[in-house]
Amino acid sequence: MGAKLSKHRVRASHHTPRRRASGGLAAAPPGQLRLVVVSVDGMRSDFYRRPDELGLKAPVLRELSRVGASADAVISTCPSTTYPAHATLVTGVSPRFHGVYSHLASRDPTAGPRPWHWFASALRVPALWDAASAAGLRTAAIGWPVSAGAALDYNVPEIWDPAAADPFGDFTAAAKNSTAGLFDELREVLQPASADVTHDHVRVGAALHLWERHRPHLLLVHLVDYDTAAHESGPMSPQALAALEQSDAEIARIRACVFDDRDTSLVVLSDHGFVLVEKEVAPQVALADVGLFGRSGDGNLKLKHLGAIHAGGSFAMYWLEPPANGERMALWKAVERLKETKAVAHVLGHTDLWRLGADPDAALILDAAPGFLFSDRSEGQVVRPTPRPQGTHGHLPSRAGLEASFIAVGPGIKAGKNLGRFPITRVGPTLASLLGLSPRTLASSEKAVDFE
Ligand SMILES: [Zn+2]
Repeated sequence: MGAKLSKHRVRASHHTPRRRASGGLAAAPPGQLRLVVVSVDGMRSDFYRRPDELGLKAPVLRELSRVGASADAVISTCPSTTYPAHATLVTGVSPRFHGVYSHLASRDPTAGPRPWHWFASALRVPALWDAASAAGLRTAAIGWPVSAGAALDYNVPEIWDPAAADPFGDFTAAAKNSTAGLFDELREVLQPASADVTHDHVRVGAALHLWERHRPHLLLVHLVDYDTAAHESGPMSPQALAALEQSDAEIARIRACVFDDRDTSLVVLSDHGFVLVEKEVAPQVALADVGLFGRSGDGNLKLKHLGAIHAGGSFAMYWLEPPANGERMALWKAVERLKETKAVAHVLGHTDLWRLGADPDAALILDAAPGFLFSDRSEGQVVRPTPRPQGTHGHLPSRAGLEASFIAVGPGIKAGKNLGRFPITRVGPTLASLLGLSPRTLASSEKAVDFE
């Protein structure tokens, strides 16, 4: 791999880079440029900024940030969770504008398995694939959140049946929501005989098949194994670092496939970072104790006028109906009790949520204090230790550790350029410009980053 990567570095310095005019318009016409976007879910920017300190072996990330441009930090959405952030990556606007405020599409914590925002129909503004299609470009995606039903030419979306016995091993919903015929075409790649094959290996195999067979101009692929390991064992645990090293190897497969193409840009990015947690707090216990949820005979929560969505580092509450007498006071009483446990760093009201580009419909969103995780547990103590150190995200995106990543390599991108810190709303316009599209094809008011 080292030889191949350095070969590209030499090539990059010798061929004339295709310059992008200011404003992000590429000199090359749309249709000539191609773009692969790899989202490594949960990858913190310090994984390529200071891998040695972390004991991380990620030679491909390191090399890409050397031969390309990279950010110190990309500031995620509020909440800093996967679905709102991925919707922002492809639209260039905050959740308040694109409409995907959370991972869950249901505000009812008493419902059985709750649906997620899998469907692109939730987006209120055009996505990058819409802008690319309008310019006559071919588009493809594997496992991209909020893409089910999107106007992509080749799409296997991230979607599962939450009621399935093994929701993440059951591909029925993904097959049903893929582009007609595509799941069958990819079946051998997507359903490998060996159980040892990782999710990411499967996703990259499918993505590379699409890249070579159908020649899309835009290919989006979402890798999830680091996020899973970081949730389970903590962001810097040996398990999580091993998963990230595996992601690095998957990126190497993609890099090897695209590096000979001088019109192709490769962007490796993420949606949010991760922080370590050791205590789990259950706001629904406190809310039920003040009567904002009822209890059925078997102790389960019963819905009244308050809805809720737990999102790890944040917890959102909604009035589903105008609150009855005393319910507002009860809510404040529960919030005071949660604050007394030291689990709450910030209580965000309407004005804060508006300013942060977050869900304007929430009555309140709680931001977790360092070390705490909000769950949807509804019985037992309000706070209890997690069974082992774990990881989470979902807080205000300004929290240290939640910085997301951005690395870009390709024509017109200056080697070694430090892009500094920028908001995640700049990514969409930047990706548009890498395809030769005007950043104005999205609803974003942000500029593309300057790669020169
Ligand atoms: Zn994520």
